[in-house]
Amino acid sequence: MDTIIEKITGDSGHDRQVIQKAAAIIKKGGLVAFPTETVYGLGGDAFDADAASKIYAAKGRPSDNPLIVHISDISDLTELSDDVPEVVYTLAERFWPGPLTVIIKKNCRVPDTVTGGLDTVAVRLPDNETARKFIKASGTFIAAPSANLSGRPSPTSAEHVAEDLSGRIDMIIDGGDIDIGLESTIVDMTGDVPVLLRPGFVTAEMLCGAVGEVAYDPALMSGVDGEVRPKAPGMKYRHYAPKAEMTVVEGERGAVADKIKQLVRNDISQGRKAGIMVSEENKDFFCEGEMICLGSRTNPEEIARHLFGALREFDERGVDTIYAEAFPLEGIGYAVMNRLLKAAGQRVIKV
Ligand code: AMP
Ligand code: MG
Repeated sequence: MDTIIEKITGDSGHDRQVIQKAAAIIKKGGLVAFPTETVYGLGGDAFDADAASKIYAAKGRPSDNPLIVHISDISDLTELSDDVPEVVYTLAERFWPGPLTVIIKKNCRVPDTVTGGLDTVAVRLPDNETARKFIKASGTFIAAPSANLSGRPSPTSAEHVAEDLSGRIDMIIDGGDIDIGLESTIVDMTGDVPVLLRPGFVTAEMLCGAVGEVAYDPALMSGVDGEVRPKAPGMKYRHYAPKAEMTVVEGERGAVADKIKQLVRNDISQGRKAGIMVSEENKDFFCEGEMICLGSRTNPEEIARHLFGALREFDERGVDTIYAEAFPLEGIGYAVMNRLLKAAGQRVIKV
């Protein structure tokens, strides 16, 4: 199959045509990758079980790993669930449109293929104008996981999507580079207390500020082989994995730099190509190895935005190992560390 790629240019007539073309593909049961503020999504009609099957096939995604249903208006919630708790509206009014996904009981209209057989559904109202216009124009809701091949880092540009899915999907809407760069925060709203299943830009502190109390899924920072099974099925897979063996190095700044230097030198002496993933503040410590700088430690949003692109870049440079500096667990730093540790298969050296 040929994959059509169309750019959003800011010219309203042109962009309207692109969105109409994408919507027509969805109405015919096809697949369209589209930009959101978190990462690019791979969308199909949320009420079409066959479209959901096509999404799993295109990504090579295990079918027990459910999709997020994207809506364009808060009132759409009642189309997906007969049981929307009042507190979900409290969160929706505070954080939507935005990078927060809520898990609620599903109704019988939502196909089991979309929810991986669960009786709950994940719902999000994205804060990206193109995404919302595309959902509206489709006349349905859009089931979409991230638009990458299963196991690869989530895509933060249309080029990343094309690398993974060209020839496997009908269309890519190129909306340029992404704002946030990490997938949405997921919070389970089916129990008495909201439970954080996946950290993201909307932090636990922000959720607490809105609803008073939030619990953490005990599996959040544990490994894929950990004893606790994550409540979000997708979190049990070794996601975001670069081809190289990755290690996170944690500790006092100077000691971290010394350790990474020593590891890199050792790799080079044994004929391995070593990658270094560091902050602006630490980059001058290194004169050997393939270095990618994620941004300043004073701007954790910048670090988050560049993380997945850096992992892909290391794949392209063909490194054998990657050493990454650890970041503080504050604010979005918690989500950054969650993704870093997953990419590293929880391999950490403390110095
Ligand atoms: P992705 O959009 O690729 O990040 O994948 C969607 C994420 O949402 C995966 O980690 C899923 O496991 C999670 N998810 C989707 N639906 C549910 C649900 N009903 N309950 C728990 N987690 C879900
Ligand atoms: Mg994903």
